[in-house]
Amino acid sequence: MTLHQRPSLQDVPAYKQGKPAPAGASKLSSNESPHAPLPSVISSIQEGLANIHRYPSIAAPQLTAALSKQFSIDAEHVTLGAGSVEVAAQIIHAVAAEGDEVMYAWRSFEAYPSLVRIAGATPVEVPLDAESRHDLPAMLEAITDKTRLIFICNPNNPTGTVVEAHALDQFINAVPRNILVVVDEAYVHFDRSEVRADGIELFRKYPHVAVLHTFSKAYGLAGLRIGYAISPLEVANNLRKVAVPFGVSDLAQRAAVASLAAIDELAVRIEEVVAQRERMYEGLAQAGYPVVKSQANFVWVGAGADTVDLEAQLAAGGVVVRAFPGDGLRISSGTEEDVNRVLAALPAFASAEAATA
Ligand SMILES: *Cc1c(COP(=O)(O)O)cnc(C)c1O
Repeated sequence: MTLHQRPSLQDVPAYKQGKPAPAGASKLSSNESPHAPLPSVISSIQEGLANIHRYPSIAAPQLTAALSKQFSIDAEHVTLGAGSVEVAAQIIHAVAAEGDEVMYAWRSFEAYPSLVRIAGATPVEVPLDAESRHDLPAMLEAITDKTRLIFICNPNNPTGTVVEAHALDQFINAVPRNILVVVDEAYVHFDRSEVRADGIELFRKYPHVAVLHTFSKAYGLAGLRIGYAISPLEVANNLRKVAVPFGVSDLAQRAAVASLAAIDELAVRIEEVVAQRERMYEGLAQAGYPVVKSQANFVWVGAGADTVDLEAQLAAGGVVVRAFPGDGLRISSGTEEDVNRVLAALPAFASAEAATA
């Protein structure tokens, strides 16, 4: 006899993590910060170690107060999760049920399809346009009476493209007010576009906008698992219901508070990552690779059929990246040395596909 299990999980793949790097290699597969934690963050974690026999606070008063102050938003709008990927899962569970549709662009964040299907909802994937950007008119077209939720990943993982301020405002304005638009701003700190969209501003302006932020990328706390949503009150109240109790550790809360206090120090690191991203983009573009201009902490190479070959070439040069076979490679922006290795491993683009054609 086989165990009763949810049949709908049969086609849901387990989340595929960026590859680990062998010792000495550059790990550019998961968009992490290449920098070691700040001393002030480490000491705040050390102070918390004496209390790990206690459960953490679910309300996380210090952190929610700090965030509410930073954005001048009532603390009740702020809800936490073990990384913003967990917060995304909470939002889907809070808003969409069996048969409801959740829309996002594709290709986008790897976690969206599984999170939607795990919740029993139906994913609606709207292809990116020819320039690897969100196709907003097509997304508006795809809205049905079953649409409950729309994710806008801005900047988009893994292509690094952005929806600029005016376009995002227009899009949100065109979405019916009973459909929640979630702006996933995991990479917003790296966005240097001229008219950068500001999710928090849109949250203030519209009643159907939520924003997802994470401490994993710009703040360098990927290993501690902490992220948050800023959402309309009725949504925030439901997120508090669906959140797994005690999902966010006290150590993570402390590290997040210390990181918010160290924003000036972190800003220097963020600028360095942006500078290396630009250097990697320019180098690869000059060498003929099909790279996409990025506003995140990575660069997308739309290598198509050459993807697996390029991944192997990079691995031989001591660089581990995220490859989506048949589609492209995402290379995180690391240190100057990391980017040197990437450029050395990929000196000139010679498409195997073209050669055999
Ligand atoms: C990395 C990432 C996240 C957040 O990851 P957490 O570590 O769970 O906070 C969220 N959205 C996108 C698009 C990401 O790339």
